[in-house]
Amino acid sequence: MSPQQIVAKEEGGVVHHYREDGEYLGTSCARCGSSAESLPCGNCDDGIIEDDTDPLWGVEVHECDWCMGRGGSWHCISSPEWCEANPLPGKEGIESTALNSQAWRDSL
Ligand SMILES: [Zn+2]
Ligand SMILES: [Zn+2]
Repeated sequence: MSPQQIVAKEEGGVVHHYREDGEYLGTSCARCGSSAESLPCGNCDDGIIEDDTDPLWGVEVHECDWCMGRGGSWHCISSPEWCEANPLPGKEGIESTALNSQAWRDSL
């Protein structure tokens, strides 16, 4: 048996890793390579906003523009300082998604 290829998809400052057969393996910071965690969006439910204020049309459903319909965002779990100071080779241009501990607390 040959070893499975890992497929990496970079998006929004993090990298999602998948096995060749599509199984999700995990997400890491695209800048420093630390683990990344997702935070739920504070503005919506799974990327969708139900707007029921219109008496004529009833419930209007639209995509959340905070998270672009993703329902949350991914962040490097290292400190912003560490992530800034320790980019992987060639990844210096990627903007850090790291949050300070106050921001993590506020969002949970
Ligand atoms: Zn990082
Ligand atoms: Zn949202």
